[in-house]
Amino acid sequence: MSKRLRRANVTDTVKMSLLCEVKGFCPLCRCSLMGKKISGDNIRLFDVAHIYPLNATPSELILLKNERRLSSNIDCEENFIPLCKPCHKKYDTNKTVLEYRQLYKIKVEIRKLKELSEQWSAQVLHEDIARVADVINNMAANKNSSTKLSLDALTLEEKKNDTLGVLNEIKVSHFITQFYIPIKQSFFRLEQEERARSQFIYSQVKSYYLLLLSKNFNQADIFEQMCEWFMTSQAIKERAKAEVLVSYFIQNCEVLS
Ligand SMILES: [Zn+2]
Repeated sequence: MSKRLRRANVTDTVKMSLLCEVKGFCPLCRCSLMGKKISGDNIRLFDVAHIYPLNATPSELILLKNERRLSSNIDCEENFIPLCKPCHKKYDTNKTVLEYRQLYKIKVEIRKLKELSEQWSAQVLHEDIARVADVINNMAANKNSSTKLSLDALTLEEKKNDTLGVLNEIKVSHFITQFYIPIKQSFFRLEQEERARSQFIYSQVKSYYLLLLSKNFNQADIFEQMCEWFMTSQAIKERAKAEVLVSYFIQNCEVLS
C-alpha cells in the first residue's frame, strides 16, 4: 500500500495571501471566509484546500485523469485555495470535475494578474492625462451636440468581438460618440503646449494594450485592466472617467486594434 503524503505546513503569510486571492470569499459558495468573535476578534472560517488532491483516491485519479494541473508539485501555493469548511469537506470527499475546473480557472486568472502586475506595476501613466480628462468634466456640464462624433465614424464594430460583451459595447460606443472629439481636441492642445507629450501617452497606452494581448486577456478583461491601470494614476479617481478615456483609445486605435 502506498504511503499517504503529509501536507506541508502552510504559514500564516501564505494563508493571508490565499485569502486575498479570493477576496475573502469562498470561491465555491461565496460565503465570507472571515468572521468575528463576540469579543470582536477576527476568526478564520476557512481551510486551505489542495485543488488537485494530495493523496488522490482511485476514483479521483479516474475523475481527474484528463485534467490539467496547476503545478507539478501538488503541495505548493500554486495548487492551494481557501475554501469554507463545509465546501472543503465536500470537495475533499465528493468533488466534481466542474468544481475542479472552476478552482483551476480561478488560479490561472490569479497567476495572469500577478504576472501582469510584476511586469507593469512600475509603469505610471503620464500625469498630463489629468489635463486631458478635465475636458470630461467640462463636457458633462455643457452638453453641446456639435462635438458629438457621428455614428458613421464609429469604428467599434470592426474592432470588437464577442468577448467584449454587449453591455461594454453599448457603454463604449456611447462614450466614444459623446467624448471622442473633445478629448481629441484636448490632446491636440497638449501637443501644442508640450511637444510629443500626447504621443508619449498614446504609446504608453498602446504598449499596455500589447502586453495584455500577449497574455491572452479577452476584450472585456482588457477593458477592465486598462480602466484599473488608469485609476492607479493619481489623476483619474473616478471609474466612469477611466472608462471614457479607455473608450477614446479604442476609437483612436491604441486599444483593440
Ligand atoms: Zn464554501
